[in-house]
Amino acid sequence: MNALGDAAKPLQISPEVLLTKDQIRPYQDRALPQAIARAWHHVEFYHRLWSAHGIDPGSIRCVSDLRKLPIVRKQDLEADLIAHPPFGSLQGDFPVIRLQGSSGSTGKPKPILHTRNDWENITNLWARRLAAQGVTAQDRVQVAFNFALFIPGFTSLEGAMKLGALVIPTGSGAVTPSTRQLELARDWGVTVMGTTGGYALHLANVAEENGFDLKRDFNIRVMYHTGEPLVEETRKRIEELWGCKSYNNYGSVETGAPAWECSHQNGMHFNEDAYVFEIVDPETFQPLPDGQEGAVVMTSLFKEASPIIRYMIGDIASIRSEPCACGSPFRRLSPIRGRIDDMLKIRGAVVYPTAIEGALRTFPELSSEFRIIVDRDSHGVDSLEVRVECDLGAASDREAMSKRIVRAVKEKAGCSADVTLHPVGSLTLPEQIAARTKNRYVTDLRKK
Ligand SMILES: [Zn+2]
Repeated sequence: MNALGDAAKPLQISPEVLLTKDQIRPYQDRALPQAIARAWHHVEFYHRLWSAHGIDPGSIRCVSDLRKLPIVRKQDLEADLIAHPPFGSLQGDFPVIRLQGSSGSTGKPKPILHTRNDWENITNLWARRLAAQGVTAQDRVQVAFNFALFIPGFTSLEGAMKLGALVIPTGSGAVTPSTRQLELARDWGVTVMGTTGGYALHLANVAEENGFDLKRDFNIRVMYHTGEPLVEETRKRIEELWGCKSYNNYGSVETGAPAWECSHQNGMHFNEDAYVFEIVDPETFQPLPDGQEGAVVMTSLFKEASPIIRYMIGDIASIRSEPCACGSPFRRLSPIRGRIDDMLKIRGAVVYPTAIEGALRTFPELSSEFRIIVDRDSHGVDSLEVRVECDLGAASDREAMSKRIVRAVKEKAGCSADVTLHPVGSLTLPEQIAARTKNRYVTDLRKK
């Protein structure tokens, strides 16, 4: 047997935050070597990776040793999946009870397995998130996420149940059409709704088209979102339209439920009793200090099956270490600037689609749908077209509107774009909006 001994018992994470600020680092220093030992003994993926790097896992004695371990990227997990079908070698030899997957927007879904303890912990972390966002036993929570391989419908639903709330799993618009979702929300007195930000806006459009009065007919106080970055302007629009608070929650199927917004909506607290967060330079992988923007890297302390250890999820953000007015001991992650994979290089400049989205959300005349088309002409010059939906009548109004949008995109995203107006409902079919788990706004024709 290795000097580390066999894997220690997994952590159990309470829905309540039990640590004070001073206790976080000593707690992590104790939990991390156990998580590393568990992965070394039970998860082939890490055993192979660390052996190849000549790493003695026993040398990882505290959080500051973490940087000795290699970064794991999405493409590493994808390659592992191809090399070790059907589940890859990340899940380990634990008794697993549940498989959830990535939504499979590129190629096949990525399977992520969970032990009973993993599942319990992730749903406890959801209970923590929702409690911080004001959900109580008095609430009726409509969960309008896609209940399939996509994880947050199930985990947020169980989190709300742990708080004693009444949950109403309507699923996405693909199984419960949008008008029915609205009728149920109204008739059953729903007070909290879980949905992607994009679908919350779409539901508002559908409500207006069908004669609902968003503020009079509904009693929704809180909307919680996950699955795609919630751009600040999108949040504002949701809050204005629905007259509710709209909260962002950060995570993915590989990570579980790492970060959440509190009622102050000023960055997302990350669960430092369940994960170690780092920000690194996306190219050199060197750790960066708090406050500096870089790639988010996460290590799970509790996960048995499919643990993530120095996993670079691909998002760009920074860590805010100043105290939050809510009193949480956990530091915060800044709003996500964008995903490295989604970052566009246009005429040599970096453009984040989320910045374009932010510009568009300031125009109440536009529907929630838009498209970003990137192309390259025969001279090798990049072009950027932003297609929006707007039902303005007069040609002069339309022309003025396009010009205002061009200016807003230039200001927010720092790039020149051609803006074209299209009739409402023409860019995406309502059934496509209802069926998707994540918005895919960008078509990059240069990649074809
Ligand atoms: Zn806070």
